[in-house]
Parts: sequence; structure tokens; C-alpha cells
Amino acid sequence: MAEDPAQTDVVTMEKIVSLCKRRGFVFPSSEIYGGLGSSYDYGHYGVLLKNNVKNQWWRAMLQERDDVVALDSAIIQHPRTWEASGHLAGFTDPLVDCRTCKLRFRADKLEDSQCGRKPSKHPGETPDCDLTEARDFNLMFQTTVGPVKEEGSTVYLRPETAQGIFLNFKNYLQFSRKKPPFGIAQIGKSFRNEITTGNFIFRTREFEQMEMEFFVPPDEAATWHQHWLAERMAWWTSLGLRPDHLQLRAHDAGELSHYSSATSDVEYLFPIGWSELEGIANRGDFDLTQHAKFSGQKLEYVDTATGERYVPHVIEPAAGVDRAMLAFLVDAYDEDEIEGERRTVLRLHPVLAPVKVAVLPLVRKDGQPELATEVYRELRDHVQAEYDEGGAIGRRYRRQDEIGTPWAVTIDHQSLEDRTVTLRDRDSLGQVRLPIGELVDVIRGRLGEPWRSPKLDA
Ligand code: ATP
Repeated sequence: MAEDPAQTDVVTMEKIVSLCKRRGFVFPSSEIYGGLGSSYDYGHYGVLLKNNVKNQWWRAMLQERDDVVALDSAIIQHPRTWEASGHLAGFTDPLVDCRTCKLRFRADKLEDSQCGRKPSKHPGETPDCDLTEARDFNLMFQTTVGPVKEEGSTVYLRPETAQGIFLNFKNYLQFSRKKPPFGIAQIGKSFRNEITTGNFIFRTREFEQMEMEFFVPPDEAATWHQHWLAERMAWWTSLGLRPDHLQLRAHDAGELSHYSSATSDVEYLFPIGWSELEGIANRGDFDLTQHAKFSGQKLEYVDTATGERYVPHVIEPAAGVDRAMLAFLVDAYDEDEIEGERRTVLRLHPVLAPVKVAVLPLVRKDGQPELATEVYRELRDHVQAEYDEGGAIGRRYRRQDEIGTPWAVTIDHQSLEDRTVTLRDRDSLGQVRLPIGELVDVIRGRLGEPWRSPKLDA
């Protein structure tokens, strides 16, 4: 029988949380005030990693295709948006309160919750539990525009980036000279007042989404849905996620959203089990039809040559940036032993690694720091590089391994004689000596090569 991939991993959520804090990827937010549940700040390396994830998504959407264009719409939109989209009436979770322990639970997730008095039991399981009837709780954050809270001043922080795309559909038909099939892509923050948060950055109330709405002739929707399922799975694996930790799961009829005729989730095997990374939905003409109805505007495509008119159907791949980052960290996390010493290493795909190359003088004297600085200055013109001269060389390598830096350049006494350096590989630990003048080309070449997780061959 094949080995269960979850059982062979050394990684746990605790190890990821601890590495992220120790190495400046992610900090709990507002810590000096005791923290704010499920809110996180991204530190230096977290920002670099997150940017690399987003850049790879933009690259796949924009640079490598000619049928997708970009948008960055407002977070606060006209409140009618959310009436039309169905979020005001239907974006709810069922809630129950316990009159005894005063805690609040998701009615559909009681099995995953703990009783406030007896944590070994689920809410409702002890004779003392006194649960109310379930009530619907809307997940949208409300605020008001203008200085006076009056009728009509209530607005919402967007719970998804998609609606901003539908609101701009008409603009795009006019300016972009695109006709279906074509897509509009957007990355941005979304907000949901989630009841059950947790599992680090997997589910938070403020998060980033990468969403693309692909508008197609109605009779091509099913084919394009298949196209995007394949494209998106290929994107995740091309960035190194191990295929045996990735699966596509089709929603059954009862699970489908009100607007969708077919949805499949890309799921990753997190330490908490298989969970959604990205949803890829066939939304039909629901959104454009609704916004046409509520706005009184025609949202349809008219072919000027044939006079044919129709409301395009929409295929939507929608992924979370923070969840993507968590999946890449989990997939990359590894531990091994070098010369009897335990090492933690992030085996990230080099294009995702926050820092591509570290430049390290062997000793802090004899002209080595000066030559290393010269090398660092040249490299940083091309890739994210880091210079480090403090502490034992082994400790400096370990530090770079922990943040996932794929290569380290070491300057030693020989470098001063013949202007050669060693290039160390994070995964194989192999070192090659090469002339300083070749470094940029070698590193750029390696960055362009296909990559496969060394964990697959372990
Ligand atoms: P879930 O079932 O996990 O609540 P969803 O199906 O409601 O997610 P979508 O509305 O399809 O999520 O959003 C698309 C993507 O946005 C998800 O696949 C996920 O990666 C991300 N996402 C959604 N909600 C959150 C959240 N609260 N925190 C972090 N990421 C999120």
C-alpha cells in the first residue's frame, strides 16, 4: 500500500508558526496589546515571499497569456453591489449561543468545537449545555461613509474581489478591445467576519485573494471550466507543491453555491488535513445578470459584425494569497542532519524564495568583507540578495537555510588571489568554485531551470 503522505512529513503547524515568528515571516498582530485574535502582520521575509507568490500569479495570468487583463478595484463599493451579488441576504453562517457558558458556535461546525465548560465535549453534549436556535450571521464587515451615521451611509468591506470585476465589465469591453473569451484578473484584500478562525494564516478575517473572472460564450463554459482546472493545477505544481499533496475535488450538488453550476476545489494536504487552496467555479451568467437588473445597465456582449448579443458566462479561479503562502511553507519545511547537527531548511522553489543568494565572507578581515560587498552589490542589481558577515560561517548558512535561500556565495582567501568564489546549494549542499564574473549568469540560469522538490526524492 502507498504510504500516507501526511504521515511521512516532519512538519507541523506549530513548527511553521514558530519558524515564521523566529525568522520574521509572520507575527501575531498587535502583540504589545496582547494580540488580536486571528490577525497577523507580515514581516520582511513574509512580504518578499508573498510578493513572489503574487508575481507568479500575475505572470501566469498576464505575461504568459494574451486573453487576460488586470484590475485593482476599490475595497468599498456601492452597497447595492452586495444586494445584487446576494451577499447581503445570503453570505451568512448559522450561529448558536450557549446560555450557560455564553460562548458562540457555528451551528454547522459543532463537531469541531469545544464546550465552554467541558472542553472534552462538543457544545450541546452535556446536560448543562443550553443552546439557542440557530440564527444567520452575516459575514460582511459594515462601516459608514461620511461623518453621520444615517440611512444610506452603510457600506461594506468587500468579502471577495470578484464583484469589483463585474462592476467594471462594461469599461473593459469599451477600452480593452477584448471580446469573449477573455478574463479580468485582480489581487487584493478581502474581509470576512469569520466566526471560526484559526490554524494560523489559513483562515483570518482580513486576507488577500487572487481572483480572475473569465468571460466566455455560454456554450463554451464547460470547456473553459476544464481548461482552468488544468491550468491552475499546473500552476501549483510548477511552483513546487508536491503532486501527492495536491488534489482536485468536485463539489457535490448540495455543496454548490447559489450561483454555481460546477465548482472544483484545489485542495492541499495541510497538517490539519486536506483543505481548500483555491475554488474554480462555473458561475454561469448569474453575476452579470444580477448587476444588470440592479443597475439598469446592459451588461452583455454585442458582436458588431454579426449583431449577435449575449450575456457571457463566467469561469472563476479564486485563490487565497495567505493560504498559498502557508501551503508553500508547509510543503517546503524540512529537517535534516549535517555533520551531526540538526538543520531546519525551507526547500522553497527558487523563484518563490524570499532571498535568492546570500553573500558571505568566510572571515571578517584580510579584505574579504570588501570583496564580498563588491560581489553583493553586483548581484543585488539582478536578484534579491543578502550580505551577512556576522558569526560563524556554519551559523550563517543555517540562517539562510531556514529562510529558504537557495544559494550562498562564499568569499575566502583564494577569492582575493584569483577572483573565484564558492557557490553552495541549499538542498544538495554541493559547492562549486567559479569566477566572480560568471556568478550572475549562473544564478540567472539556475533560476530559469525547471525545479522539483527534493522532498520527492528523499
Ligand atoms: P472556505 O470554504 O475555506 O471558507 P470559501 O470557499 O468561502 O473558503 P472562496 O469564497 O471560494 O472561499 O474564496 C476563494 C479563496 O480565498 C479560498 O480558496 C481561500 O484560499 C481564500 N479564503 C477564503 N476565505 C479566507 C479566509 N477567511 N482567510 C484566508 N483565506 C481565505
